[in-house]
Amino acid sequence: MSQRRVALSFEFFPPKTPDMEQRLWQAITALEPLKPRFVSVTYGAGGTTRDRTHSTVARIRANTKLEPAAHLTCVGATREEIDEVARRYWLAGVRHVVALRGDPPEGIGQRYTPHPGGYAYAADLVAGLRRAADFQISVAAFPETHPEASSADADLDNLKRKIDAGADTAITQYFFDAAAFLRFRDRARARGIKAPIVPGLLPITNFKQTVSFSRRCGTSVPDALHKRFVGLDDDPQARHAAAVEAAAALANELIAGGVDMLHVYTLNRAELTRDICAAIGIAPPASAAA
Ligand code: FAD
Repeated sequence: MSQRRVALSFEFFPPKTPDMEQRLWQAITALEPLKPRFVSVTYGAGGTTRDRTHSTVARIRANTKLEPAAHLTCVGATREEIDEVARRYWLAGVRHVVALRGDPPEGIGQRYTPHPGGYAYAADLVAGLRRAADFQISVAAFPETHPEASSADADLDNLKRKIDAGADTAITQYFFDAAAFLRFRDRARARGIKAPIVPGLLPITNFKQTVSFSRRCGTSVPDALHKRFVGLDDDPQARHAAAVEAAAALANELIAGGVDMLHVYTLNRAELTRDICAAIGIAPPASAAA
């Protein structure tokens, strides 16, 4: 099969239990042959996974050839505490940080209050990391506008502040409307944002949960997706096929629009991610790897 040139990165979350840990490492091992640019590990709301994120990232650094990236947020910690986390990453050989404000510990939609003595927003964290060490820094971007932003333009100005503070790349919130991403990319370019903006691709594993989460984070769910997933709740195979088909259709539209990098929210599931990559011609099918 001819393979297309699209650079991948994969996002994982740190495991809570030994079973989840096993699944994570199976996923990392299965996805390593796809040669992602980097693999990132999230940081639980309010810093709740600080140690688990650190140990997962350090283990990827030590035991694989993958380039790990550590997510880091501003929530619930002083600048000194965050600087110390960053210093530990640097000492562990980790060179890439995904710098985020984070959501309030009470959850999305609750009022965000900066920690006294902490970094208030992601742009402040980026500036702090730049002062700390020569990290590669990625930040978040929102094609359909961050829900707390006063306007789409204000949100774009915030992205520019993060890039001007020293971020190298933006990774987007997931979305299902390729046109919304391509318009956002064009508006960002027109506003002088030259850094790469990498689309974040979320496979749909549980449609109801995706709809509910999307409502809270400002992602629109097109009618076509509702139609595609209706009646599949009790049919995991059909759901898997629909998830692959939907993600591949979105990725193909993005690639046709000039996108050459994709960040996949893997949900720690290797097979789904592999099948999506195979469906867009950037990996052999999962069965070929067995
Ligand atoms: P910011 O860039 O700080 O922006 C947050 C909001 O504040 C925006 O509405 C912005 O317009 C506004 N704003 C910015 N500066 C100011 C200012 N000076 N005054 C007033 N308003 C301002 N969350 C986690 O907890 N852990 C993770 O690991 C994680 N990983 C993520 C990875 C990606 C790729 C993405 C897209 C999101 C991730 N998130 C994660 C979620 C993220 O933390 C939330 O979406 C959060 O609400 C916004 O983070 P941010 O870095 O974009 O914040």
